[in-house]
Amino acid sequence: MTDDERIRYSRHLIMPEVGVEGQRRLNEARVLCIGAGGLGSPIALYLAAAGVGTIGLVDFDTVDLSNLQRQILHGTKDVGRSKMESARDRLLDLNPKVAVELHDTRFTSQNAVALVEPYDIVVDGCDNFPTRYLSSDVCVWTRKPNIYGSVFRFEGQATVFAPHLGGPCYRCLFPDPPEPGTIPNCAEAGVLGVLPGVIGLVQAIEAIKLILETGQSLVGRLLHFDALKMKFRELKLRRDPQCPVCGEKPSIFEPIDYEMFCGTRIDEEIPTISVRDLKRKIDAREPFQLLDVREIFEHEIARIDGAKLIPLREISAHAEELPREEQIIVHCHSGKRSAQAVRLLRERGFRNVYNLEGGIDAWSSEIDPAVPRY
Ligand SMILES: [Zn+2]
Repeated sequence: MTDDERIRYSRHLIMPEVGVEGQRRLNEARVLCIGAGGLGSPIALYLAAAGVGTIGLVDFDTVDLSNLQRQILHGTKDVGRSKMESARDRLLDLNPKVAVELHDTRFTSQNAVALVEPYDIVVDGCDNFPTRYLSSDVCVWTRKPNIYGSVFRFEGQATVFAPHLGGPCYRCLFPDPPEPGTIPNCAEAGVLGVLPGVIGLVQAIEAIKLILETGQSLVGRLLHFDALKMKFRELKLRRDPQCPVCGEKPSIFEPIDYEMFCGTRIDEEIPTISVRDLKRKIDAREPFQLLDVREIFEHEIARIDGAKLIPLREISAHAEELPREEQIIVHCHSGKRSAQAVRLLRERGFRNVYNLEGGIDAWSSEIDPAVPRY
C-alpha cells in the first residue's frame, strides 16, 4: 500500500473489522453494477470511494436532464453524453486507484453470462422485471451473490439473492412476473429523488460486507423502507424447493427470453404512425380517435387536444368505450406503454389501431413546443 492509499483509506485502516487485510480484500474485489442510474449512482460512487478495486458498469443509456434529480453520478455538463463515459470520469475523479470497466450495452440473455463471469458480486441497480429475472438467474448459475434493490415513489426494498449461501433467488420470491402494465415504473409513477440513495447505499453496504466477510448479510431477509413513515421493516425469505432455477429439480439452465416471459416485448409488427403523420391527419380533419394511455397526472401536465384518457392498466376494463369502426391512434410519453396498449386492443379484436412513435415527447419536440415536456 502506498502512502497515498494509507491516507485515502485511513478511516478504514483504523477499524479492526477492516484494517489492512480488509482494505486489501476491497482492492482485490471485482463488482459488477447493472445500471448507472438512480441506484447505480450511489452504489458505484461509494464502492469506488471505498476502494473496491474493479467496478464493472453496464448501461446503454445517455444522460437526460430528467435523470439528475436522483442519478448523482452524472452532472449537468453530462446531459446528452453516454452514461458510461460520464460515470467513468466521475468515479476516476473520486478515486483514480480503482479500475472502472465499462460495458456500454444492454444486459441481455446473449451477453449476461459473459458479463457476470469475471466478477465476484453483482449489484443489480436496474429498473425493470426482465433484467431482474435475468440477473438473478445468471447469478444462480454462476454462484455469485446478487444484491437486489428496487424503488417506487416513497418506498424501496433490498436483499441479497444467493442460493449458494443459503438464501432464495428472485424467482423463489416472484415465480411469476406481474401482468404487463400493472406495475408502473419510475418514469410513470415517479420516485422521490433521495430514495434510490437510501436503497443503493444499503446495496453498497451489503457488497462491502460480503467482500469483508463480516456482519450479517441480507441473505434470506428482505429489507423494506418506507420514507413517509420513516420505517424499516424486515421480512424473512425462504428458498422455494420447487424453484425452476435454484430448486431441487431445476428446469431452467440457461438464459430464456425474458421479455417474452414478462410480456414486455415491444412487438415490431405493431403498426406505428409518426408525429408528422398525426399532425397531417389533424390538419386534414380526418376522423380518428386519439387515445392517451398515460396516468392522470401526466395528462394534466401535458396533453394533445382531443385525446381521450384511459391509463394503460385500465385499458382492458374500458376497451369497449372505444370506437371499433374508427381508426385509433394511441400515445403515451415515449411510445412504450402505448405499444402495449395497441397489443392489448389488438388482442381484443381492434384492427385499426396505431402506436404514436415517440409519444407526446416527440409531439412536443417536433410538432408543438407549446406542449410542455416532462
Ligand atoms: Zn430460486
